Amino acid sequence: MEGKVKIGIIRCQQTEDMCPGTTCFKVATKGKLAFADYGECEIVGFVTCGGCPGKRAVPRAKMLVDRGATVIAFASCIFKGTPIGFVCPNATQMHEAIQKAIGDEIVLLGYTH
Ligand code: SF4
Repeated sequence: MEGKVKIGIIRCQQTEDMCPGTTCFKVATKGKLAFADYGECEIVGFVTCGGCPGKRAVPRAKMLVDRGATVIAFASCIFKGTPIGFVCPNATQMHEAIQKAIGDEIVLLGYTH
């Protein structure tokens, strides 16, 4: 398929110790769940928030946009606390700061699956 939507994923740095992001990759590349509106997507980058309190997620999101992402998704570890039920306490602030930095033309999804 030509012109796949380019996706950047931001995940919780702490969850990195217990999750390699397999399901995020699967749902994005197959166009499922959070990506159902976009069809099969191309992942241009998969980064962490940089650790609490998540400030480093802002320049990292910009970096993903520079690499062509038109949709940025927070991995489900951030707002949903997947897989251990520990939601990021900084999620809303991080989401707002990133959206402000990347502008409204870039979609910022709050979950992946
Ligand atoms: S700021 Fe949130 S997403 Fe980032 S490491 Fe801390 S708990 Fe995880």
